[in-house]
Amino acid sequence: MTDSAVVNGRETQSRPSGSAEVLRNYIGGRWVESRAGSFFDVHNPATGEVIARTPLSTGQDVDAAVEAARKAFPGWRDTPPVLRARSLFRFRQLLEDHFEELARLVTTEHGKTLEESRGSVRRGIECVEVACGAPSLMMGYSLENIATNVDSTVVRQPVGVCAAIAPFNFPAMVPLWFLPFAVATGNTFVLKPSEQVPLSQRRMFELLEQCDLPPGVVNLVHGSREVVEALCDHPGIRAVSFVGSTPVARAVYQRATHAGKRVQALGGAKNFIVVMPDADLDHGMSSIVESFYGCAGERCLAGSVLVPVGSAHGEARDRMVAAARALKVGPGLEPGVSMGPVISAPHKKKVVSYIEKGVAEGARLVLDGRAAQVPEQGYFLAPSIFDDVRPSMSIGRDEIFGPVASITPVKSLSEAIEVMHAHPNANATSIFTQSGKSAREFARLATASMVGVNIGVAAPMAYFPFGGAKDSFFGDLKVHGRDAFEFYTDKKVVISRWF
Ligand code: NAD
Repeated sequence: MTDSAVVNGRETQSRPSGSAEVLRNYIGGRWVESRAGSFFDVHNPATGEVIARTPLSTGQDVDAAVEAARKAFPGWRDTPPVLRARSLFRFRQLLEDHFEELARLVTTEHGKTLEESRGSVRRGIECVEVACGAPSLMMGYSLENIATNVDSTVVRQPVGVCAAIAPFNFPAMVPLWFLPFAVATGNTFVLKPSEQVPLSQRRMFELLEQCDLPPGVVNLVHGSREVVEALCDHPGIRAVSFVGSTPVARAVYQRATHAGKRVQALGGAKNFIVVMPDADLDHGMSSIVESFYGCAGERCLAGSVLVPVGSAHGEARDRMVAAARALKVGPGLEPGVSMGPVISAPHKKKVVSYIEKGVAEGARLVLDGRAAQVPEQGYFLAPSIFDDVRPSMSIGRDEIFGPVASITPVKSLSEAIEVMHAHPNANATSIFTQSGKSAREFARLATASMVGVNIGVAAPMAYFPFGGAKDSFFGDLKVHGRDAFEFYTDKKVVISRWF
């Protein structure tokens, strides 16, 4: 299948024009030109300037990457785990040395504030740190004398060539949910970053080049749908990890499992934040507002629907409106800015269309981001808030992935949980309360896999598993934490008797 002429709402170019650099793939330890016949312009969302061009690579580029990874696999599999970890320790140090540069790059290609970018690079480095523990964490187990003079041992072995496909919203961090764990456990790896934000990964691969990894252990293929489908279908790939929207996550899961692969596919979200009448909003409101508007709402863990219970409604709404109105919207590299632009002009248009739909469907627009002053260049949109949103309205149902909040008031905690359960997604949710009983009930009954108690964003940590439920996750084993060592290894049982 070939890429359509429109990707992410923008026309692709059949040949790169202008002076912006055309990126290359990294295959078999070398930077090589893609065989792409079309190119995607990468914009700085704060200025609208084209800062690079992503080649939309082909199935042949994927074949070359998989072949390089396949060739590298036997040697890397047989490299002692401590030596594999040593390469990752080096990578970790290089990421630290280039921390600020990477954070600035994330802000330049994605738009989020520098502070948010720093946070995401830090979370990514923590994944490398946890993966460095592979010599201990991938150990098997054994039992002697399962029968007279017979011993049994379980060893974990790498699965082979693994691939990961990333979304646009965390250019540096999401690939690090996968690459360090795959490599530490002895697999070889092919990464496809988002075509909208390819620059952080290009820089990371330049750093990986300095880590004494044999050629072919890590490979980078830029592109979009054609590359993803080739990775799903390729018989040389054993495992696929995907992060992105629910429709694509579902399609990738179905396609790659059909081709016999182990798959984990993380999808989209609609996250509910419940506020009980006893919530301490003096302390909690900044965390709630950060949940809705951090990264301009482009976070799979972002709050989407505020669900105030009973008498919490009026105060929670008024405080949220005041706090959201006070956010300073501007370029993420500028000091004092609390919210950057959204990723692109088509995405901004889509988010604005949801504001229009909310008004048309009868929700009450209590803060209109379209009316606020924002920088003229770039893709800025100030926070919006709708009150009295019914779950059946499009703004109450769809993932908007922008700075638009809905408020759906309910009468009781059980009604709040019902509203949440009726939604097909279940990525993250939070409750704000001072009651241990309410918090416990909520945490026990919530279907979302990430639950915050007086925490606006129940964020993934490298040493815990992460991934949603229902339509937010397709697969069994989640990402990072101990699940990563399960996902990237097969267990083999050896039963021995010595006469
Ligand atoms: P997306 O689904 O449009 O793209 C994700 C990846 O899939 C990209 O690499 C893209 O090139 C590729 N892709 C896009 N369309 C495809 C198609 N039709 N066939 C095959 N591949 C395709 O997602 P996005 O807009 O880049 O990212 C935002 C989405 O990702 C949101 O829905 C967000 O909730 C989700 N997300 C989820 C998590 C999570 O942990 N669950 C984390 C981050 C982002």
